[in-house]
Amino acid sequence: MSNQLEAEKRNHRKLGQELELFASMEEAPGMPFFLPKGMIIRNELENLWRRKHQHAGYQEIKTPIMMKQELWEQSGHWDHYHENMYFSEVDNQNYAIKPMNCPGALLIFNNKRRSYRELPIRFAELGLVHRHELSGSLNGLLRVRSFTQDDAHLFVRVDQIESEIDKILELISDFYSHFGFDYKLELSTRPSEFMGSEEIWDEAEMALKSVLDRKGLNYQINDGDGAFYGPKIDFHILDSLGRSWQCGTVQLDFQMPQKFNCSYVGEDNKLHLPVMIHRAIFGSLERFMAILIEHFAGAFPLWLAPVQAKIIPITDSHIDYAKFVKSELDRAGLRIEVDSRTEKVGLKIREAEKQKIPYMIVIGDNEVGNQTLALRKRNEGNLGCLTVHATIEQFLKEIKG
Ligand SMILES: [Zn+2]
Repeated sequence: MSNQLEAEKRNHRKLGQELELFASMEEAPGMPFFLPKGMIIRNELENLWRRKHQHAGYQEIKTPIMMKQELWEQSGHWDHYHENMYFSEVDNQNYAIKPMNCPGALLIFNNKRRSYRELPIRFAELGLVHRHELSGSLNGLLRVRSFTQDDAHLFVRVDQIESEIDKILELISDFYSHFGFDYKLELSTRPSEFMGSEEIWDEAEMALKSVLDRKGLNYQINDGDGAFYGPKIDFHILDSLGRSWQCGTVQLDFQMPQKFNCSYVGEDNKLHLPVMIHRAIFGSLERFMAILIEHFAGAFPLWLAPVQAKIIPITDSHIDYAKFVKSELDRAGLRIEVDSRTEKVGLKIREAEKQKIPYMIVIGDNEVGNQTLALRKRNEGNLGCLTVHATIEQFLKEIKG
């Protein structure tokens, strides 16, 4: 099959509707509604995110969606990003809906006096942002007006830049491996219009290069493509059709901490300016989900699948035992549905396969009599008879893997 046909078959808007994952509605163009099954995938991604970040020494924060206009003037968004922002007025005070999470993280950093001993400080935030996009450019979950960034803002000393970048690269690589994604790296350097001194820029670019080289990673250099506030490394993941998607980004920033008068007390008892690292791995949860839907063609691995197994009783007399099997699997934390309609088994299996459910459990006289179940795997067919206990063990082992 040609790549284009295959891409059409995998279109995330089509699959999102067929598998009941999300919906787009006129009432809020570009702002997706997550349906119960889509929400399960989203929550699994968030669980993975939370686990990994706790382990990597991040502290989770949450900052308001709406903040006063003055803040956005201070951050520069008012001048440079006004066109893409949403606004509101409450009690004669102008507010803006946040298009980025950085200012909130800066306010939390400034919320108390910081010492060099605390650094690096790693704030992670699943931050809901709104950016106005033209209606013609909207596309399912790929291009939206409201989305959740898996953002992180690190505050580090200059001498900590290399080791922190190193840790971030490890974390991102580990994340992508969970989905089987390979990736390409791009390093973007000083643009013609930049803020700060050339000396600091050179130092920062050297730091990024030396980490990439030391780890023996291949990367492409995009000369002059960095953000005006600092150089960056972008991650382009490769999906199962060989298409590449920019997801992760790591950006050094010398400007924002200055604009917000951030400081920490150094060993010398004097105030110093921290360096800020902006960092995302999924990029946006919505967009990453769109990529996952197309990458897996909706046939999610067991740990992500909204319904992990469908129990199919052959006749009504098998429903009680089917419900018992479900309750046992439920107790093990698995997501199970019973298809108790009076339809032919063949039809129920076909429908479950169309819904791309990883496992089907068929219950008939033999299974009820022997207190077992007949297991089928998506695309692989019969796996034979197992006890409920053995099935749970097999599922949990696969999920863990
Ligand atoms: Zn940021």
